[in-house]
Amino acid sequence: MPRRVTFSRNFTLSLSRTCRCYCKYCSFATHRAHLHEPEEVERLLDQAERRGAKELLVLTGEMPEVNAEVRRRLTAYGHRDFTSYVAWACERALARGILPHTNLGVLSRKDVGRLREVTASQGLMLESVSERLMETVHAGSPTKHPARRLDTIRAAGELRIPFTSGILVGIGESEEERMASLAALAAVHAEHGHLQEVILQNYVPHPSYYGEEPGEIADAAQSGRTGEADPQPLPAWANPVELEDMRRLVREARRLMPDVGVQIPPNLSDWWLPLVEEGATDLGGLSANGDHISPEHPFPSPHQMRKELAPRGYALTERLCVYPQYMDPEWLEQGVLDTIKLKYWSFIPRRGSGRREERAIHRDLVSGAIARARDGMTLSEDELTALFAETRPEAVEDMRQAADELRAELAGDTVTFVVNRNINLSNVCIVGCAFCGFGQGRRSPDAYEHDRDEFVGRVEEAVAFGATEICMQSGIHPAWGLEDYLGWLRLAREVAPDVHLHAYSAMEVDHMCRVSGLSPLEVFARLREAGLGSTPGTAAEVLHDGVRERISPNKLPVARWVEIIEASHASGLRSTATVMFGHIEEPWELAEHMRVVRELQERTGGITEFVPLSFIPFHTLLGRTHGVEEIGREDNLRHTAVFRLALGRTVANVQASWVKMGLDAAAEALRWGVNDLGGTLMEESISRMAGSYHGTRLEPEDLIAAAHAAGRPAAERTTLYEVRRHYDAVTA
Ligand code: SF4
Repeated sequence: MPRRVTFSRNFTLSLSRTCRCYCKYCSFATHRAHLHEPEEVERLLDQAERRGAKELLVLTGEMPEVNAEVRRRLTAYGHRDFTSYVAWACERALARGILPHTNLGVLSRKDVGRLREVTASQGLMLESVSERLMETVHAGSPTKHPARRLDTIRAAGELRIPFTSGILVGIGESEEERMASLAALAAVHAEHGHLQEVILQNYVPHPSYYGEEPGEIADAAQSGRTGEADPQPLPAWANPVELEDMRRLVREARRLMPDVGVQIPPNLSDWWLPLVEEGATDLGGLSANGDHISPEHPFPSPHQMRKELAPRGYALTERLCVYPQYMDPEWLEQGVLDTIKLKYWSFIPRRGSGRREERAIHRDLVSGAIARARDGMTLSEDELTALFAETRPEAVEDMRQAADELRAELAGDTVTFVVNRNINLSNVCIVGCAFCGFGQGRRSPDAYEHDRDEFVGRVEEAVAFGATEICMQSGIHPAWGLEDYLGWLRLAREVAPDVHLHAYSAMEVDHMCRVSGLSPLEVFARLREAGLGSTPGTAAEVLHDGVRERISPNKLPVARWVEIIEASHASGLRSTATVMFGHIEEPWELAEHMRVVRELQERTGGITEFVPLSFIPFHTLLGRTHGVEEIGREDNLRHTAVFRLALGRTVANVQASWVKMGLDAAAEALRWGVNDLGGTLMEESISRMAGSYHGTRLEPEDLIAAAHAAGRPAAERTTLYEVRRHYDAVTA
C-alpha cells in the first residue's frame, strides 16, 4: 500500500520579527521595531490567496511589544497588544478561506486561548529540554527555558488545541538531550493528546541578514529569482548532524508517539527521502513565499518530491494545517470548523454519516429497512441513507446477515469468476476526472497508446491464457472516431473469434455519439456488428449530478449514462453496473445512485451484475490535494452489504473487486452479500495508476482457492454468467 507522506500548501506571514530573545542560531529575529502595517498584511493575504495557500503560517518573534515602537504602532492600529493584532490577521485570513497556524513563541494560557478562536492549529518548538543550552545558544533568551515552553505546550493541550512542536538538532545538545526532549513531548502528549506532529529540524548555519527582510530573500529564493546561498561554516557552539542521528530520532519519535506525525523540513538537507523511508510522515508547510527562518533554502516543489516519492511507493498528499483527527468541535472553534466545512470538507474524515451534515440521518429506520430489504423490497431514500450511514456494530452485523441471506437466495453458495483479460488501449484522455490516476494529456510523459501489433499480441496472450472475455476500456482519446472503436473490435474478433468482447464504457459510447453524430442505438448497432458482446457499466462513479459536478464535471451526466446503458440493453447487449465509492460522496448520494440502478434494472432487466469499486486515492487529484483517504476495510464491507440490500431481487450477482480491496477482503466480502470475485484481468492500469497495491493479475487457482478458503464451492463463468466449470471445495 502506498504510504501517504503529507505536506501543507502554505504562505508565511512574518507579522513581526521583533523578538525578546537572542538565540545564537537565529537569523530571523531583529531587536529593532518590525511590524507589518495592516495594509501590508492585507496585501500579503491577497498574495497568499492568489498562490492557492490553504494555510497561513503566522511566524513572529517572541513578544515583539517589548519594543516601544512596536507598542506605539499596535496602539495606532487599534490593538491593545500583539496577540490582538495576530488575531486580527487570522480573522482576515479566515475571511479569505485560509486556515491560520500561529507560531508566536511562549504565550500565556490566556493568549493561547484567545488565539484558539481564530486558528486551526498552533505551534511552538520545544527546541530542547537541555537547560545547559541556557548558558550557550539560549543565553539571554529567558523564554527558551524548557519549562516555560512546556507550560505553553501543556496549556494548549488543556485548551484542546491541535498543536505542532518539535526539536532543533545540532545546536550543541547531546544525543541523550535530544532523546529526552522527545520523551518530554511524548509525556505532554500522553496527558492531552493534542500533538498532531513533531518536527525534527536540523540546524543549518545562516549568513546574517542584518538590515535585510528575510521574507523577501525567502520569496526570491522560492520563486527562483535567486539561487541557493553558499553553505556556511558551522559555528563553534553547534555540533554536526549526520543522517544516522536523524534516523535514530525518527525511529524514537515513532516509538514514543506512534499516532503523531513526524515532520522533516525537506529544504534543510538532502536526507528527507531516507528519513521518509525511516518513517517520517510529513514534509511540513511548503511555503509559497519561502522559508522565513532559512530564507536561503527554498522548498523543493511538490511535483519534484512526488516524482522522487512515487517510484518508492509513497504518495505525496496535501493536508491542512490541522490534522484530520482534530477536525471536530472538541478541538476547533465553530467559525474555523465552518471554514473547513465550506472550503475543505473533503479533508474531513468520513464518519459514517458522511462529512457534510446537510441531511438528517434517521437511525430509527435501520432495523425495519434491513428486514424489508431482506425481503427484496424497494427502500426509500431515507432508509437507504440510514443504512449507508450506519456504523453501530450490531446493526452492521444485521445488515451483513441480511445481505448474506439475500445472496444465498438469489445466487446460491457458488462463488463465480471469469477468466478474462483487461486491455486499456490508451490512457490519453480529455476529461480530467479528479478521482482518476489513469487519464493523461497527450503530451504527458505517462501517456501511452497501444499500436495494432501490441494490441494483437495482448489478445493472443489472452487466448493462450484461456480467457473467455476481453474487457476493453480507455481514456477519451481526442483523435479517436467511431471507426477506431469499431476497428479494435473487428481486430479482436479476427484474432480471437471465440472470445467475448466486453468493451467501451458509457463515456466512450457518449464520445462515439458526439464524434459520429449518431444516436446511442445507432452506435450500439455498429458496435454489435463489429463484435461487441456486452457493455461495462463503468463511468457510473456516483449517479448523482451533484457528486459528478465535484469529481468529474466534464463527464456525462446521470441521465445520459442511463440513456446509454438503456440503449445498450435495447440493442440486445447486457451490461454490468458499477459504483465508485469511498471518496467525497454522502450516504444520501449513494442512496440516489442505487435508486437509479434499481429502477433501470426494473425497466430493462439488462444488468448482469453489480460491481462496487472502492476509490483508490493515492495518485489522484482528490487524494493528492483534497485529503481524501482510502476507505477502510470494514467500511468497504459495510457498504458492500448495503449495495446488495439496495438491489433487492433485481440483480442476482454482486462482485467484489479484488484489485481495489485486495483478494483477502474480497473473500471476506463473500459473507457480506457477494457471490462473484470478478476476473483474472491479466493486466490492470486504471487502479494501478491511481496507486492500488493488490496486483494486476490473478490465476484462476487464486480465485478458486479464495472461494474454497471461505468454505464455498467455485465455478468459472462466462461474462453473461453461464457456468463453464465447477470447482467444488475439497472437504477433509
Ligand atoms: S476516469 Fe476515464 S474519462 Fe475520467 S479522466 Fe480517467 S480515463 Fe478519462
